[in-house]
Amino acid sequence: MIDLRSDTVTRPTPAMRRAMSEAEVGDDVYGEDPTVNRLEQRAAEIMGKEAGLFVPTGTMGNTVGVKVHTQHGQEIICEARSHLLDWELSMTAWFSGCLVRPILAENGILRWDAVSAAIRPGGAHSAPTSLLEIENTHNMAGGTVYPMDVLQDVCGHAHDAGLRVHLDGARIFNAACHLNKPVRELAAPADTVMFCLSKGLGAPAGSMLVGTEEAIERGRLYRKRLGGGMRQVGVLAAAGSIALEEMPHRLGEDHSNARFLATELAKLPGIQLDPARVQTNIIVFDITGTGLATAEISARLKDRGVLMNSANPRQMRAVTHYDVTRDDCATAAAALSEVVSRT
Ligand SMILES: *Cc1c(COP(=O)(O)O)cnc(C)c1O
Repeated sequence: MIDLRSDTVTRPTPAMRRAMSEAEVGDDVYGEDPTVNRLEQRAAEIMGKEAGLFVPTGTMGNTVGVKVHTQHGQEIICEARSHLLDWELSMTAWFSGCLVRPILAENGILRWDAVSAAIRPGGAHSAPTSLLEIENTHNMAGGTVYPMDVLQDVCGHAHDAGLRVHLDGARIFNAACHLNKPVRELAAPADTVMFCLSKGLGAPAGSMLVGTEEAIERGRLYRKRLGGGMRQVGVLAAAGSIALEEMPHRLGEDHSNARFLATELAKLPGIQLDPARVQTNIIVFDITGTGLATAEISARLKDRGVLMNSANPRQMRAVTHYDVTRDDCATAAAALSEVVSRT
């Protein structure tokens, strides 16, 4: 099977499996797992922040990130298709007691004029806005990357307006690779950053939250409240360390495969897609012109050995990763060509 459903499906590399079997471990709730401690320190260093926290999932990282910056009854501004809003079971409401005020933005990229118009002043008639949440790369907008000047502008103004900024950087290394900049430059404008070790970087599980000592110290307690206090979790952190140190440099391969796949898909009848807009490893494309429903396309592709999901009723989403080769992309494009021309 050629699995283009997500980069979450990557399996740990032989080096990760070896590191897991040899990992030095201790009880991390006591702060005594040396492998976790090392990973947290390295993650902070690489991101240019004071401290790091190993969390089981990106969802928990975002949940803790939101919690450290907000109080019950406040508002959070984010993009309308953000993961935080659509795919995390309203964790912001459930755990932090906050409302989300979404803004639909072109390519998922928030700009200051739209954000400033959505800020609520507080007082007798409106709940105050305390947090801006940014997603880079933006998943459902098609792996789009914030231009550095836009990122700095929107975060800088948000800080001037008294807001905190949390960056959902599940795929921040993909963004850094696209911009050809050190990832710390992309992390710098945000107060906290969550990123996933478990996606394109290939770890079997785990994400990181980084920020100030103070934010991470409080975050550690929220992680415990969420049931995320793990014990000899150095076995996972060992794989995470390899993901962090050895995997980012190869993401460009996934990006060029995605661009190639997009170019092939764009040639097919009924498919709407501009390959020039594919910046990283995610392709979101419109299939309404094929006359087929997304579920039908998924089912027929599956019969031909290709797994691909819908993003919404009009669009499919394909994600490249290190278990997908250039040849696999060609095979997947040929399979989709068969599917759409048989109607
Ligand atoms: C995957 C993802 C997350 C977190 O996902 P988990 O499955 O909880 O690890 C958060 N934000 C974005 C943009 C994602 O793509």
